[in-house]
Amino acid sequence: MERTLVLMKPDGVERALIGKVICKFEDAGLKVVALKLLKAKKETVERHYTEDEDWLLSVGRKTKQSYIEKGQKVDETEREIGLKVRSFLVKELTRGPILAMVLEGNSAAEIARKIGGGTEPRKADPSSIRGMYSIDSYELADNKKRSVRNIVHIAENAAIAEKEIKVWFSDSEICDYKRTDEEAMYG
Ligand code: ADP
Repeated sequence: MERTLVLMKPDGVERALIGKVICKFEDAGLKVVALKLLKAKKETVERHYTEDEDWLLSVGRKTKQSYIEKGQKVDETEREIGLKVRSFLVKELTRGPILAMVLEGNSAAEIARKIGGGTEPRKADPSSIRGMYSIDSYELADNKKRSVRNIVHIAENAAIAEKEIKVWFSDSEICDYKRTDEEAMYG
């Protein structure tokens, strides 16, 4: 069975969306195998959002694309945007409580990303968590000098999820149990 990592960011916790968000994953069939509400340390968030070159460039690329679509010019390079966003994220994820969870199930990483929706709530599918529960945009976030408030972080794929799970959970915190509907889903 595949596992993935989800973090509910402080905006989600503060807006009392814990129950609704967990419900969306559980209703789809994903099993919550680890869960904790915590105040994250700066070093932990820095281990989570590493200075990975591909990630920095991809964050910059997505941001630039969104501005170009709106007919706006961006002077910063993709890497500069990536580094700036990383520092915003460290600040945002340490400013209030976050909810960390490990979800398990068939294609858990892909399914969880689909339920979460696209990065920018303005454009995210309205039935996804980000599209349904947030109205933020790159532009608003950049003007406010903070990261996009899009409720959740969801690991990009299963391999990355395994690395991220280790940042937030020890093996003994991950539970092994059966959901009563597993036969209906996997039988
Ligand atoms: P995702 O979270 O969808 O995997 P990314 O890895 O590209 O997206 O970005 C990580 C997080 O950084 C996003 O969820 C969002 O909160 C924030 N972010 C991305 N780009 C920007 C930006 N230009 N300005 C502010 N925050 C951003």
